Amino acid sequence: MTPDMDPVPWAALRGAAPRFEMPPKLTISITETCPLTCAHCYADCNRPDAPPELSFDEWRAFVDHLVANGVIQMYFEGGEPFHRPDFHDLLAYCAERAMTLVRTHGTTIDAVAARRLRRDRVGRMFVDVMGADAATHDAHTGTPGSFDLACRAVRELVDAGVTTDMLVILTRQTAPQLQRILELAHGLGALRVGVLRLYPLGRAKSRWAEMALSLDEQMVAIASLRPPPGLGVMQSWHPNDRNCCWQAAAVTAHGRSIGCMYLREYVDFGDVREVDFFRSWREDRLYGALRAGHVDKACPSCAATSNTGGGCRSAAFAFTGRWSAPDPFCPTTNDGVDLRVLPQRLLSPHA
Ligand code: SF4
Ligand code: SF4
Repeated sequence: MTPDMDPVPWAALRGAAPRFEMPPKLTISITETCPLTCAHCYADCNRPDAPPELSFDEWRAFVDHLVANGVIQMYFEGGEPFHRPDFHDLLAYCAERAMTLVRTHGTTIDAVAARRLRRDRVGRMFVDVMGADAATHDAHTGTPGSFDLACRAVRELVDAGVTTDMLVILTRQTAPQLQRILELAHGLGALRVGVLRLYPLGRAKSRWAEMALSLDEQMVAIASLRPPPGLGVMQSWHPNDRNCCWQAAAVTAHGRSIGCMYLREYVDFGDVREVDFFRSWREDRLYGALRAGHVDKACPSCAATSNTGGGCRSAAFAFTGRWSAPDPFCPTTNDGVDLRVLPQRLLSPHA
């Protein structure tokens, strides 16, 4: 079931086969609960009307199904994965069978938890920060002390020998602090910092005007970065505006197959307990079209570097209502979209 807003050029796509017969990796939002109250929370955690989440046994059965069909990597996010009491056990189960990566706000990761993650052979950890200091981060999370705990998490994970990166979403509040965030990450021992776009999802939609930057402001912030020696920086603005739909698959805490977490409000390929997950991956027309990456206009430089032109389909659809539109976060393909202004349809409860 998909929004019927975009006349996807199906005829032109006929014969455009996906590159894989099945997704090599998968993102799982293991819970949509969290003790923090971030201003942007894409999952809009702790909604009182949220449906039940999959049980441990349901996840284990699904993971077995994934592994039996060749999935080799699982990326866990939320919500806050560690807010789910059985997550450590489920993660250990998965880490025996696949490469595992976890995104967390880090508040529960002390030395004991970090050593357990190392013992369980978790592949990589990503710890979110939303500022270079406690005042900025804690104001965003609505939780005093969360900054110090996030920093502790990075330090303990690094000390325990777990490969660890930090993530930050580029907003009006974090942009002036990006360089300091890189230095903080370096000082704590993180290997890389991922600078992420702000997506109009969840609570971010209602706080958009106070957080969103124009594309020019984003490009200036990215261009000004001077990573300390040895620290990697990941970012998805030109010329790294890759389309990763071609390899993406994702499932929500409630079992909905949605292709990518950034598509969570736009597509629904069915409940993985009821539909054949791999069959919908192969046969759903929109799923295939997203992976095929056919777009009206792609940035030549980005296409040349990634071989998958067109940029992010979630961002394109959010701002234009068309799956085949160019990515507005790229200066070459922006086409006059003001990223500080959300289309009214996104603010509708029935969007
Ligand atoms: S830490 Fe993540 S899951 Fe928790 S409220 Fe913030 S954005 Fe949402
Ligand atoms: S919607 Fe965007 S972030 Fe998600 S898989 Fe596609 S290109 Fe990547």
